Amino acid sequence: MENFSRKGKMVQISNEGAIKMSVYDVLLNDSGKYFLLGNEAIVRGMIEAGVGFAATYPGTPSSEVGDVLSRIAKKAGIYFEYSTNEIVALEAVAAAAASGVRSFTFMKHVGLNVAADAFMSVSYAGTNSGLVIMSGDDPSMFSSQNEQDNRHYAEFAYMPLLEPSNPQEAKDFLVYAFKISEKYGTPVLFRTTTRVSHLRGIVEYGSKGEIKAKGHFNKNFEKFTLLPSNAYRQKGKLIERYNALKEESDSSYINRVEGKGSDIGIITSGAAYNSVKDAIIELGLEIDILKLGFTFPIPEKKISDFLNSHKRVIVVEELDPYLETKVRNVAQIYGINTSINGKMDGFSPWSYEFNPDRVMEILSKIIGIEIKKDDKYSEIKLPSRPPVLCPGCPHRATFYATKLVSKQLRLEDPIYPNDIGCYSLGYQKPYQMSDFLLCMGSSIGSASGFSQATDQPVISFIGDSTFFHAGIPGLINAVHNNHRVVLIILDNRTTAMTGHQPNPGLPFNAYREPAKEISIEEIVKGIGVKYVRIVDPYDLKETMVAIREAANSDGVSVIIAKRECALLRDERMRKEGKWIRYQINQEKCTKCMNCVKNFTCPAIYVDSDGSVKIDPVLCDGCGVCSTSLVCGFHAIERVEQ
Ligand code: SF4
Ligand code: SF4
Repeated sequence: MENFSRKGKMVQISNEGAIKMSVYDVLLNDSGKYFLLGNEAIVRGMIEAGVGFAATYPGTPSSEVGDVLSRIAKKAGIYFEYSTNEIVALEAVAAAAASGVRSFTFMKHVGLNVAADAFMSVSYAGTNSGLVIMSGDDPSMFSSQNEQDNRHYAEFAYMPLLEPSNPQEAKDFLVYAFKISEKYGTPVLFRTTTRVSHLRGIVEYGSKGEIKAKGHFNKNFEKFTLLPSNAYRQKGKLIERYNALKEESDSSYINRVEGKGSDIGIITSGAAYNSVKDAIIELGLEIDILKLGFTFPIPEKKISDFLNSHKRVIVVEELDPYLETKVRNVAQIYGINTSINGKMDGFSPWSYEFNPDRVMEILSKIIGIEIKKDDKYSEIKLPSRPPVLCPGCPHRATFYATKLVSKQLRLEDPIYPNDIGCYSLGYQKPYQMSDFLLCMGSSIGSASGFSQATDQPVISFIGDSTFFHAGIPGLINAVHNNHRVVLIILDNRTTAMTGHQPNPGLPFNAYREPAKEISIEEIVKGIGVKYVRIVDPYDLKETMVAIREAANSDGVSVIIAKRECALLRDERMRKEGKWIRYQINQEKCTKCMNCVKNFTCPAIYVDSDGSVKIDPVLCDGCGVCSTSLVCGFHAIERVEQ
């Protein structure tokens, strides 16, 4: 029997032929070997570890864990929620674990910054039941604002750190992480990177754990209430735990030596290990590898033995010289003279993810061997295709209306702080409305700063999910300090960028069951904003009136541009059997190019004969381009299907 998954379906091939099964069912099977995505394997790990409570805020590369859980958590007996943000998720799982329920939270690397306040303290408090925190790091920043190396967080908080390299390890190490957590009463940081979370590989199942979603909280004031006197005592316990964990790391099966004995050795971890393996095979080298999975505390004894038994040791790791610094410390403490190479002596780069080609280059420089450059493992060079807002995207209409109003009112050098979501794409031409973007929620906080520090008008943008996540304190600040800011909340009724997860503004929860819908309008009014308007961004005239009024108002004014994401609309229309599209009447079209150059819906294009056309496959039928504010010649017409 062979298994592999294709387009969300698991295909099982037996003598009787191919049977298609849902990957969601497969994850609940008792035994077997399956071809899983790293994040799917993590969900299987939760089932084997007996996790009863899981919470997250979606973020790439960890989002699929939640997508899968939202489908199977109920069936598996796991409680799962999308929390408002990462710190809320961490606080929720910490409480559940303190109540005796094995708990798991997962987030992208920058999400851990949001959760950092609770993260640092939960390490002091410890846990009664297994508690694991997953950080999905993003070397090369495929979908992130930075590529911070979250391994440092483990050291910062004295929290054990595990780093899997592939889907099998992702599953196995997660089960192991819960064992470590319960053995030492500590939360564990579980760090993947994009290449581990999104890698597919064969995963052999272990047995399912006993899942308990309810426990009992036995009060323990000294442990769980981190007032200064308690925190003082807990710090001592934290260091005791850290010392015990050093021995655990040294004896751990996930820190292992591979090879038959060579003069040169490599120390590596995580996704870099895969590239090292490919690179040494490609180069025909027989080099010992110390493959580390338990990377905080580091296995000092194993590292010193490895250093002692090799003339030269090369540390291969992505991003910061996290391991290398520690390896050099071990050499210094134990008085070992082995040559150590890595990033700190300039051989290995400090940025972006590795692939076998990059590792071959590092090894060739250090060992002094020639490599044949065929870029076999390099990314395939495709023509650059910058991301664009989808056809029919309501954000495009909002940006277009804002641009027109800014021109009409002759706003002098307006500043457009933007935020994290699909609408960050407002930075592109012709809109160029993403002047300042730091992190989730920064649109509103920075808007306050710009309004006070300059005399320029400030119009900022934030999405519905991001508003709930981190926007509300910024809005309170702007109102309380009486800043002059226009805030446009782009409410597309979902968390679109990470895959359409629900948020508190929707009437359903992670299981798509009815849930209390939190009204953005009521929050905004409750904060004390006087000018609040809800508009449909597809109605450009109405949207422009609101933006004009808001721009002429004093203090903070808020416009909620409410219209479902074009992809959801498309899905809904298909289900309803409707297909609306638009086309250009060539007799009326003057080729003024306003729709092409200033509105820029990707469905509108200039054909080889110079005529302007709409691609019927791409057109979403939103109709915004047909209004006189886009096509003043009424050349864009609806096609009835
Ligand atoms: S805006 Fe209207 S007239 Fe101008 S190019 Fe587009 S379809 Fe033709
Ligand atoms: S109706 Fe116009 S704006 Fe809307 S998707 Fe089609 S071409 Fe684009």
